[in-house]
Amino acid sequence: MDSTHSAAASPEPSTPQCLAHADRFRGDRSISTHLERLPGVGTTRAQRLQPLGLVTARDALIHFPREYKDFSGAHAFTELSEGEHAAVSGVVMDIASRTTSRGQQMLTVLVKGKDGSVRGVWFNMPFMAKKLSVGMRVVLASVPKRVGHVWEMTHPEVRVCADGEEQGKEEWLAVYPLADGVRQSDVRLAVRAAIDHAGDLVPEAFPAAMLAAKSLLPIADAFREIHFPTSVATMAASRRRFVYQELFMLQVALRMHHSQKETRHAAPALPINAKLDSRIRQRFGFNFTAAQRRVCGEIAADLARTQPMNRLLQGDVGSGKTAVAIYALLATVATKVASSVPDDTDVAGAQVGEAGGMSYQAALMAPTELLARQHMATLERLLKGSHVNLELLVGGQPTKRRQAAIDRIASGEAQIVVGTQALVCGSARFKNLGLVVIDEQHRFGVVQRGTLQQDQADPHTLLMTATPIPRTIAHAVYGDLDVSTLDEQPPGRQPVGTYRVGPEQLDAWWDFFRKKLREGRQGYVVVPAVEESKRGLESISSAFENLSNGPLEAFRLGLVHGRLSAKQKQSIMEDFRAGELDVLVATSVIEVGIDVPAATLMTILDADSFGLAQLHQLRGRVARGGVQGICGAVIASAEQSHPRIDAFIATTDGFKLAEQDLRLRGPGDLVGTRQSGAPPMYLADLLRDASVVAEARRDAIELYDHDPALADESLQRLKELILDRWGETLGLGQVG
Ligand code: ADP
Ligand code: MG
Repeated sequence: MDSTHSAAASPEPSTPQCLAHADRFRGDRSISTHLERLPGVGTTRAQRLQPLGLVTARDALIHFPREYKDFSGAHAFTELSEGEHAAVSGVVMDIASRTTSRGQQMLTVLVKGKDGSVRGVWFNMPFMAKKLSVGMRVVLASVPKRVGHVWEMTHPEVRVCADGEEQGKEEWLAVYPLADGVRQSDVRLAVRAAIDHAGDLVPEAFPAAMLAAKSLLPIADAFREIHFPTSVATMAASRRRFVYQELFMLQVALRMHHSQKETRHAAPALPINAKLDSRIRQRFGFNFTAAQRRVCGEIAADLARTQPMNRLLQGDVGSGKTAVAIYALLATVATKVASSVPDDTDVAGAQVGEAGGMSYQAALMAPTELLARQHMATLERLLKGSHVNLELLVGGQPTKRRQAAIDRIASGEAQIVVGTQALVCGSARFKNLGLVVIDEQHRFGVVQRGTLQQDQADPHTLLMTATPIPRTIAHAVYGDLDVSTLDEQPPGRQPVGTYRVGPEQLDAWWDFFRKKLREGRQGYVVVPAVEESKRGLESISSAFENLSNGPLEAFRLGLVHGRLSAKQKQSIMEDFRAGELDVLVATSVIEVGIDVPAATLMTILDADSFGLAQLHQLRGRVARGGVQGICGAVIASAEQSHPRIDAFIATTDGFKLAEQDLRLRGPGDLVGTRQSGAPPMYLADLLRDASVVAEARRDAIELYDHDPALADESLQRLKELILDRWGETLGLGQVG
């Protein structure tokens, strides 16, 4: 029997939609009451709970369980099986305590049931002895193991049964996300107190008719059942209610956002004729792959229309997304603002501001300054001899330079603008923005979309990512989004040979790495580090020392990490690119997008500390040229299981890995909320809840088409919640 049900995906504290403005009083009860004032919680426990962000009753209510354990005590002793979670009930027959040879306090409790017995064992938990006494009826729940003839459970959960309690009453026990020094029992107690005190004070978001039509649990029931389920069915129903609400509200918000965009402005039409198409493609030193040609065609069709393009381009690492982006950028700046007729001489020719008039502007946004500068260099190389005005806008620029860039962006003189978040966060304002391309979009998250705006028209938008997003999720997070896929690598690419390097193979690996370096190859060594911390920096430096005095002593090494200035990083990258360094020792600053085709070797140290998508991105750095790349994933222990490393070794197909990744870690990061600062998804697991996503989307569209202003009396609470949760993020100001 599957006795563990996962529930919450993201336990990050912040105000969820279901509770905003819910601060309503009933007598002296309020959801803002501090936990320490609730019966049974007490000051000490309340203090212990603070690291979890649990301060008020409200906080406890929305501290959703991570999973549930079957605690019915309904398992027969005869059905126990090694390694499978189970709960059994019986009577305490014996309690013994002793000190082990290692000096630990060991408590052993024998519990005997109808058809067998089990031994509960606790180390250094003296309070358990006080809690239990011989003759008590209890339920023990844990993963049992067979020790000799006896079933044993180490540190099982214990529930003491009330006198005469019918068996299997309280079947499921919530398991909560914890922090250091907080016990499950602390959280459970606080949640119980919060439910008793204020569980019924949260106003209902949905109109009664909708609750009925969708068979949704009313909010008070949902709170009670998600924390203290009376059955598997109510547990599932309560979770469904929160997931549905979350996704439904997001979908309505996206509708609002979308229709505002549609009705506010049209985008400029940027037609691309055959002549322009071939002129642009001739600029590249290679022929476009069939996939690149197809995707360029899809983009061209969008750009020709005045409805703003809203397209996601997904393509595995190295599939050549940049070329497609540049194609679109050049097409944009080839169009004159006044005439909207493409002037194909412009890409190679005419000066802006001359008789031909002003061209539309295009922006390319990258997640890091290093990547922005690399894109800039690529464009400079490609556009040598043309008169297209390129502009760079990044945080690391001197103020004066930045201001000059901002001025040229505002005047329309800057045609292609490459930048980082500085493009949206700063005071840059475009005169005639026709197209925005956002590279490695998954690094940005939901927020940045639509924030790069101007007064006259909405730009076309192209999002690019190497982390493919399942269609359901794309819908959930971005609403209506067209998807293009680069499903082909440029010719001559070979899958990177990927190896797991355990401690015993490490010496041999370095021998191999050095041999390849001596053959004239270049390579990376990636070290993991928390770059913001001082200790992180020290660990990078010492890793570098170890390499340059150890295995890579004979070679020219460079070091880049996040703490260097953009200029320092840039100059080291240039040395590496120019072949003046053999090995670049780097943190994951090189993870995204860096393109040095001559570098074909990679060693990833402590590979198990990286995420799967990150590993694949890293490996992508050495899959660029015609020479087969080689990548070693170094792990500290060979015994431990490393599901991510196994997946990483097994395939070089980024789309397959992304799917695996989603399963291994949940989609929290994928939607990018962590980087963007947008509120996290609370319970919804977009992959598992794909059908609810679809349902919520249908319902949201129906509601919105019916009552776009959410003017109906019964929808006021819902509207309030939606604006509160998404108003700022999605710029829904005008609706409220
Ligand atoms: P990604 O999709 O990961 O962003 P890039 O756009 O950086 O990939 O392209 C990876 C490398 O492939 C670059 O060096 C680029 O010049 C090269 N490239 C792109 N398209 C082609 C092509 N059609 N033929 C040959 N090389 C190409
Ligand atoms: Mg790229």
